[in-house]
Amino acid sequence: MSNDINKPMGLYVHIPFCSKKCDYCDFVSYSMDCKAQQLYLDALFTEIDSLKTKFYDRVFDSIFIGGGTPSIVYEGFIACLSRKIFSSFHFLDKTEFTIEVNPSSFTKEKFFEYVQAGVNRISVGVQCLDEKLLREHGRIQTMDNINETFKLLKNSEFPNVNSDVMIGLPGQSKKSIIKTINYLIKQNVKHISTYTLQIEKHTLLYSKLKKGKIKPVSDETMVDIYNKINKVLKKAGYFRYEISNYAKPGFECKHNLKYWDDDTSYLGLGVAAHSYIDGYRYYNTKRLDTYIDAMKEGKTAVYSKEYVSDAEHRTERIMLSLRTTKGLDLDKFKKDFNEDLLRTKSESIKKMLDMNMIEIENNFLRIKDDYFAVSNSIIVELI
Ligand code: SF4
Repeated sequence: MSNDINKPMGLYVHIPFCSKKCDYCDFVSYSMDCKAQQLYLDALFTEIDSLKTKFYDRVFDSIFIGGGTPSIVYEGFIACLSRKIFSSFHFLDKTEFTIEVNPSSFTKEKFFEYVQAGVNRISVGVQCLDEKLLREHGRIQTMDNINETFKLLKNSEFPNVNSDVMIGLPGQSKKSIIKTINYLIKQNVKHISTYTLQIEKHTLLYSKLKKGKIKPVSDETMVDIYNKINKVLKKAGYFRYEISNYAKPGFECKHNLKYWDDDTSYLGLGVAAHSYIDGYRYYNTKRLDTYIDAMKEGKTAVYSKEYVSDAEHRTERIMLSLRTTKGLDLDKFKKDFNEDLLRTKSESIKKMLDMNMIEIENNFLRIKDDYFAVSNSIIVELI
């Protein structure tokens, strides 16, 4: 089964530079220097040129520049990249254009550059307001940086701001997380993404854990924190539309919604980017030098391509749909996979309905709000 080619696509561009590696980071990021940035921009241009004909008859309605730290690249980089993107692909009028910024490298000049380039959504990597804790985990921003960032966005009346909040940093208390959430509510951000820290192998945090220098936060504490965040944000007028994402009405992230809708294609550009196009997943190389060389030599940036089988697609549909509060469209599921889930999973569904963990309304099956924190166990029952 392929993606729906009539749905507008999303475009992701990865900017793989950071001024310093955070202890918990498992993303592809390199320390920056101006020459590398210039080579990277040239390589992105080449990749765009190599793909624009292929996507000539497709339309896009979201752009997401993520990283790494997109706000760290030199002034003019994003403007230049945006011009190239807009002149190479077709975009709908109401295209959502997001850029991720780190408060430590976000300046007034860069902000105006982004706005001029067409950015209409800014995602601020706040993570946590506890400077000492941030420092302990290798993150460089200060409280002054954060305050300055929001002052600039507020004074300019920039309408669509997201903020990322990290949950589960060793040493982080529930009180400190709620303080961060309340600060963001006060800043009137329209969207809040809460990310649970995963301690990945090959990170500094993982080796600290192995040496017993830090303790992970327990599952019970995490559930407690998640439930408290949910309560605080609901009270402040945000609604949860995905397990970890909250928005004021009308401010859901159009781009991220494409990742949870397994029917929609997206194109990823740059090192470590991946794409999902017409039933195939493509993975670009994770090495910056390999990517730049491949582009110079007229080769592809893709190092792996796989077809998503119907069985995998079925599993993804269940997993991704149940992450959202909209839930799983049972009619569409039946049409696409020739399977009546109410029949094939009748016992599990009945049990979970009786326990009030899930609900079915207008043929959408969804997890009840109070059970999102244990969604994995529910999803497993339905796969
Ligand atoms: S700023 Fe983000 S991408 Fe860069 S090292 Fe830290 S967590 Fe990783």
